[in-house]
This record gives sequence, structure tokens and C-alpha cells, in this order.
Amino acid sequence: MSGTNAPEAPGGMPDDTQAVDFSRRSLAAQAMGHVDPTTRAVVMPLHVATTFIRDPDNGYSSGFSYARPDNATVREAEGVLAMLEGAQAGAMLFGSGMAAATAVFGALEPGDHVVASHVMYWALKRWLRAEMPRRGIAVDFVGTDDLDGLRAAIRPGATKLVWIETPGNPLWTVTDIGAAAAIAHEAGARLAVDSTAASPFHTRPLDLGADIVMHSATKILNGHSDVVAGALMGAKADAFWERIAGIRAGSGGILGPFEAYLLMRSLRTFHLRAAAQSAGAAILAARFQGHPHVAHVLYPGLPGDPGHAVAARQMHDGFGFMLSLRVAGGEAAAIATAARVRLWKRATSLGGVESLIEHRASVEGPDSPCPPDLLRLSTGIEAPDDLYADLDAALRAAHAG
Ligand code: PLP
Repeated sequence: MSGTNAPEAPGGMPDDTQAVDFSRRSLAAQAMGHVDPTTRAVVMPLHVATTFIRDPDNGYSSGFSYARPDNATVREAEGVLAMLEGAQAGAMLFGSGMAAATAVFGALEPGDHVVASHVMYWALKRWLRAEMPRRGIAVDFVGTDDLDGLRAAIRPGATKLVWIETPGNPLWTVTDIGAAAAIAHEAGARLAVDSTAASPFHTRPLDLGADIVMHSATKILNGHSDVVAGALMGAKADAFWERIAGIRAGSGGILGPFEAYLLMRSLRTFHLRAAAQSAGAAILAARFQGHPHVAHVLYPGLPGDPGHAVAARQMHDGFGFMLSLRVAGGEAAAIATAARVRLWKRATSLGGVESLIEHRASVEGPDSPCPPDLLRLSTGIEAPDDLYADLDAALRAAHAG
């Protein structure tokens, strides 16, 4: 099946079974140790062919026939992602995070019911509100950080999917993955987790009981703001997973080979970037707490954060690279602050090596739970002292008028 096979490891680590002896960081740094069998190159070639020679006996002994369902370079990156998430069913790469997420919802049947996090990526929420009713699928958005609320939203017999995002963009609300999985499974539903903001550096949802984990690989997995990509990783290659694979193959949703090659290159340094970016975010969160022009810092790494206790259990090696500030003085002060930064880049998206700042309510509109005074910060790899000084100066200048 497309997307689930790790490539052969000719001349690298003897096979992927043996490779599990090494840490995820080591395996990612060497792209699973795969070596090109023709040249012995330590970087696998970029496969761009759209079609492949059929054998005289009419078979396709290479396993490749056409590039819409499958591609060898995409498989390379999928092998690393499956390893990072501990995904028994493997990984599937898509042309965007939205393409990956919507393929999961596309695998549902008319009459199914979905429970999803109230705090989640706004464009996916908008898509669900617009598209799911047209397919005869009802979606309830609830605060999944409240497990009683999640339990109450389940419709026994009808709920087939619980979709959580944790930490949830842009308030960084934390949902207990293990507890949500237990609630979903008890009702006969699957749990899917948008783990974009946590990344496999901090959390492996499949280890905690989730069935599917989704990433906008556009974010920290690629990390260089030059690829749009999405990924799904599965715990089990069951009928639902196969249906998603069929949707990707049939709709042509697979990631392009050049993007997969760039993603693969980025995954080799993923651990270094994620460590630096989350360390920077933690420093900034602590320093902006108590800042005279910051009303509130939203970051699950702060001991006072409502999600801290759960985050401390299910996140490791830090709490991620994303935080938000609620600016004292309200919306006008927040927008004026974003206007005055010099080192931070005023742009949407997140997870890149360059730090980004965004007045999020301007993007999400009136239906969003995002307050108007909120600035979303994506911490890059610049010196935290520089990032602090730049934003501190902008806050002070905005406040002075
Ligand atoms: N999930 C989260 C948490 C996101 O932040 C985004 C994009 O910002 C997406 C999903 C969608 O990903 P993409 O932009 O790659 O389609």
C-alpha cells in the first residue's frame, strides 16, 4: 500500500528492525541510515519520474507504476516521520496539512458524528463547519481540555471520530491525549490528534493511545518556511487507514517529490531546531510574565498555566515553540506592537527558524475564541535575548503611542 513502506536500507543500517536500537535523533540525523545503492551516496536521490517500466511478465516488480499514488522520495520522508511518531501503520505525506486533515474527515460516512476541539486551527474549523453538513456528518466543537465536557458531547453509536488539537492554536490549550483516547475508544470512536504545535520532539500521541496523528509539516517538521506539506501517522493499518490511503491516491493529494526531498533534509536537523526553539520559547514566556505591558502569557510550560499539569505529563523535553501574549491596552496596542518589531517577522505560519509574530484575531475573524489583544509568537532559533529586547522595545514604543 502506498505510503506505508519504509524504503529498503541498502548499505545503511542493516534493516529498520535493527535500527530501533538507536535513538530517534540519531536515526533522523542519518535519514534512517539509507544509502543510495548505485553510488553509495549518503543522501538518497530525488525521484521525479511520473511513470515506470512494466516488466515483460506484466508486473511492476519495483513496486512503482505511476507517481500519483506513490513516490520513492516521499517514502523516504514518510519512513522518518513514522519512526519519529512510532507509527506501526506508517506515515502518509500530503500536499498540505489541510489536505492531510481533510482526508481523515473524508474517510467518514454520512450519519457519522464528530467531536472536535473548540480551540483548533481556525481554517480547519471553518472547513468542517462548511463541508461536513453537506456530507451528512455532524460536528460538535467542545473544550476538549474539559474531559467531562468531551464525554458529554459523545453520541453513543454515532460518534466515530474525536479530533483534538493539543496544544491548541492560538491559546495553547492542552488536552489530555490518553484520557481523550479512553473516552473515544469506550464509545467505539477513533482519536485523531493534530500535534503540529507539540511535534514528535515533545509528544508522541500514538504512544498515549491515539489512533492517528496529524501534522502540518509546513511548520516545525520542515522548519524553513519553504515547503507546504501535511502528514498523517497511523497506529494501525485498519480499514479506516486504508480508506484514507485510497482517498490520497484517488484525489492526487500526495506531496510532490521536491517538497519531500526538502522536508527530508529538514528532518535531519529537526531535533536541534526543536530543542533550540522550545528553549527559546520557555525563556520568552518566563521573561514576559510580569512585563508592564503584557496582561497575560499563554504557554503550557508556565507553572500557572491551566494546561501545565497535563502538559507536564504528556510533553517531554519542554513545551514547544509557540506562545501567545495578551497585550495590556487591548487590540490597538497589540497591533501597534506588531507594527514596531524589527527582528520578529510580522507574518502568519509557525515553526520556522525565523521568529514570527501575528495579531491572530485579524486572521481568525469574529467566530474565533482568540481575544483581540492576542499576539501569537512562533519562536525561531535567534538569540532569545535579541528576541526579548526587540519585542520589549516594541511593547514600550506602542504603549508610549
Ligand atoms: N494545523 C495547525 C495547528 C496549523 O497551524 C495549520 C496551519 O497553520 C494547519 C493544521 C494546516 O496546515 P497547512 O497550512 O500545511 O495546510
